[in-house]
Amino acid sequence: MRRVGSLAAAGATSVVLLTGGCGTAARPQQGVSAAAPMPPHPAISGETSAAGSTASSPAAAQPPRATPPACPADYLPPAPDRPVLRLALDVASDHRTVTGTETVTFTPETAIDELDFRLWPNGPEGGRTQGRLEVTSVRPPGTGRPRSVAAGARPGVPGTLLVVPLTQRSPAGKPVTAVLSYTLRLPPARLDRLGATSTLAWWGSAHPMLAWVRGRGWVREGAQASYGETQASEAAALDLTVTAPAADVVLATGLGSPPGAVAAGRRRWHFVAAAARDVVVAVGRFRTLTRLTPVGGGARTVPVTVAALPGAARSLSALMAQLQRALAAHAARLGPFPAEALTAVDLPATGDSGVEYPGLEFIGDVEDAGFTITHETAHQWFYKPGRGRPGA
Ligand SMILES: [Zn+2]
Repeated sequence: MRRVGSLAAAGATSVVLLTGGCGTAARPQQGVSAAAPMPPHPAISGETSAAGSTASSPAAAQPPRATPPACPADYLPPAPDRPVLRLALDVASDHRTVTGTETVTFTPETAIDELDFRLWPNGPEGGRTQGRLEVTSVRPPGTGRPRSVAAGARPGVPGTLLVVPLTQRSPAGKPVTAVLSYTLRLPPARLDRLGATSTLAWWGSAHPMLAWVRGRGWVREGAQASYGETQASEAAALDLTVTAPAADVVLATGLGSPPGAVAAGRRRWHFVAAAARDVVVAVGRFRTLTRLTPVGGGARTVPVTVAALPGAARSLSALMAQLQRALAAHAARLGPFPAEALTAVDLPATGDSGVEYPGLEFIGDVEDAGFTITHETAHQWFYKPGRGRPGA
């Protein structure tokens, strides 16, 4: 995320990470601070491509650096035992309520006695006073009665930690599947990861998130009040369906398919991602512009989309130009873009900030959209969008 005037710790870290690395020795772009070289980027998967990225950059007016190592042309596959997450969501016509079914298959590397999920909308993040995520049923055979733990939750809402005990210990390497039904109530629009108006809804980190970190185990710490980027989860194979009012466009993590009509006044949208650490959805009467865009790794292109609501001050073509420029610059430094698709959503209702999710970023009510796009796009290589291993 990037917050104007009060750069959060995680945001400050990501600014430092924007320079150095593999590929062309690029000059820092406007608004990006110089920093020490970073180690080669971690392995990510999925694409087939040729030689390393050699995109050009402006001639440097600074002292020459040592030639960095060539970027790898491809990434390792995602972890084969990563979680498989299926979300089927339905957005009510008032855009305030989302009902969902989550089916998650988890293969732990150690024996487990329970499944832990985090319900982050119940926390105090950013001074949140409304918003509620409630699991209404858990339906795997072999599980005991779920237990809600406050873990930093606001008063009057379910805990941010849901413990689902297993009726018997499950051994390492054995897949465990849980099916959860839940209801998400979105708060009024403000600077937050989730919000709604009568015609618009967005939510990220807002499904029951399986809270496992390999090598460590369950993450049970109390929810924090700081804005954004404080949850932990495994990168999962994602299959997401969202049913929404027919007049709306749905934007989300993953590679989308054209929507289909499912009932009078409703359409269903489908997205898939090979490995995503989090899930975000935006629903509203968006206008969109999509361009297949080179993103490093030889001739590979991905669909790059910009979106804005009717009457938005920023033009889609200007946003697209900024996003494509940021992608090219980052891919030249860091290696091929590591996901199936990228969408930037011009969404002033999210406040004076930007925030990133795997494959999708929000551009809030900020003065310099180009800077924010550059910042949030860099997060696609770092932090949340890791692919199958902690810290990627
Ligand atoms: Zn950031």
